[in-house]
Amino acid sequence: MVFVIDGVRMEESFGEGNASVDGSASSSFLPRIRRELLPQGTLVLPAYNLGITITAPGHAQFLTGDTAPFGNFPPYDDMGAYYPDLPTLFELVRAQHGLGEEALGLVGNTDLLDAVGRSNYPGLGAEFGTTYVHVDTDGDGSAGDAAGVEEAWRRITEDRARFVLANLHRPDQMGHYGDEIADYADAVRNLDAPIADFWAKVQADDDLRDSTTLVIVADHGRHRTGEADAYKQHGDSCAGCREIPMFLIGAGVAEGVTISDGVALDDLHATLARLLEVESPYALGRDFLGGELAATGDLSPVSAGGLVLSERRDDEWPRGAVFLGDVPVSAPTAQAAGGAAVAAGSEAAFACWRELGALGTSDIPWNPACAWIDESGPVSLMPMPLPEVNVGWRPALALSPGGVPWMAVADNLNGAVDGSAVDRAVRLLSLGEGWHGGVGLEGVYYPTAPALAVSGDAALVAFAASLDASAGRSNRHGELHEVTDPEGEQAWSLLFTSTGASGAERAERPAIWAHDGRLRLAYTTADDAANNVEVVSSADGGESWSAAEVLDDTGRVFAHLDAQFWDGAVVYARLGDDEAELCVEGTSPRCVGLGATELSGFARVNGGARVSVRVEGEWVLRNVAL
Ligand SMILES: [Zn+2]
Ligand SMILES: [Zn+2]
Repeated sequence: MVFVIDGVRMEESFGEGNASVDGSASSSFLPRIRRELLPQGTLVLPAYNLGITITAPGHAQFLTGDTAPFGNFPPYDDMGAYYPDLPTLFELVRAQHGLGEEALGLVGNTDLLDAVGRSNYPGLGAEFGTTYVHVDTDGDGSAGDAAGVEEAWRRITEDRARFVLANLHRPDQMGHYGDEIADYADAVRNLDAPIADFWAKVQADDDLRDSTTLVIVADHGRHRTGEADAYKQHGDSCAGCREIPMFLIGAGVAEGVTISDGVALDDLHATLARLLEVESPYALGRDFLGGELAATGDLSPVSAGGLVLSERRDDEWPRGAVFLGDVPVSAPTAQAAGGAAVAAGSEAAFACWRELGALGTSDIPWNPACAWIDESGPVSLMPMPLPEVNVGWRPALALSPGGVPWMAVADNLNGAVDGSAVDRAVRLLSLGEGWHGGVGLEGVYYPTAPALAVSGDAALVAFAASLDASAGRSNRHGELHEVTDPEGEQAWSLLFTSTGASGAERAERPAIWAHDGRLRLAYTTADDAANNVEVVSSADGGESWSAAEVLDDTGRVFAHLDAQFWDGAVVYARLGDDEAELCVEGTSPRCVGLGATELSGFARVNGGARVSVRVEGEWVLRNVAL
């Protein structure tokens, strides 16, 4: 049983000292929980949201075990729910224990939870997920928190549900929209009795007492900047937004323990997966009660010019480090690194990735980093113009015809103060006397990692985005832009949009190929039932385009992996009947089984692919002939 107190800070929950919101003692907000429950459970001081510090991606982090590289997933109007790409705990519980939907509960009083009850993962999805139940009884959410606790009780008693998540949204709602500070503070205080009573009822129930674990956690905190109204917003990497309360009590949880060594939301996922007795193959965290890392080995390989970089996770690098072969290239001081990209020319290669700063009392940012890689092996870092990036930052790299490094990025710093989104731009940078350019396209809604290719003297940049500030599934599309004078003034012109060209509701993860005026663009699509791959082609430099061709209509394409072009042919990955497959476009796709069901990435090497597959609980790199 998980109660998410939406958007509550440490200082208004389990912190020490006084709360900055109104100066009252931190211990005064949840007094019964602190007095009656805390001594009997395990308290994390503090826990962290190391991803995007807003509601839907916060929940997705502990439901999927990975940071979600995207903003909120609002299903407003007819936008369609935008589901995570990796399996949720809900689906794993149902699929692995053979249970019906009554075994699950996802309740709350915000529309933002609508999309996290299932994923787009092939073979899972609606059949194994759960339907969100909105318990707002009076329309404005004011009674919703107590109703959410009540509904959770009904689920675990009447339905005997195995796993229930209740989002208690009022604190966040009052933080944003309350007329005065007391509205937020009271919304937190109002949760003390319902949660304490809930646990007392569990303890009085013979069937539930010894089998129930309760988690109290927040999806994100709120700003803590010293300004009086800082509490109103959240969404960036400040310590107030990253630090969250986390407490566990009941079955499988040690009594009277305090942990303070950097537990994050993905660690909660790994812990819950073990308590729920499910295998969560894509989980990245550490089971902080049991001690085991969910993921070890080498993940997400990328390659260029014979170099292969991957993300290593082991006891030395529990949150990941970027490796070139067996050499770490991310900073030894970084507590996490990932999102690597690499490009190579005839003489040099360069690579970029992101690193997480130290867990401290001020900001905890993800920073971009880049390096030259030359024959002798040493790696020299190039300073980057972007001071901070978000957890979804993954650059696209290429070398210009003159050998100048180009980088396309989605500049979605999670520094938004409106708490709703990320910044909105796609930029192209070039490396001269330092990185420059980069004005790029502003006003791009929810851009995700772009693709970059060279076409004569121009750059081609493709990305997925939403049509407007509503980020729902049926509002996602792919765009391809030509950028002339990429190292100077830059002129961006739209060559293609999948809007109207594709019948799919959601187009993501575009890949580009360009050769002598011929262009091809591939992207993955997702709707409620299926993930496919589409491709469009142009023979005249983008003046006119073929109709979208569905390359794979099995519906089982992995939504978490980009398609790639190898010599003009689309290469993509899917879940076959009993193993993951890598497929090459042809008159019909030619697919090669990978000997494992989970795939974290694939990269081109001589004669085939280097893939990262999960074998007996370990992520291993393997060469596959294609
Ligand atoms: Zn929230
Ligand atoms: Zn903040």
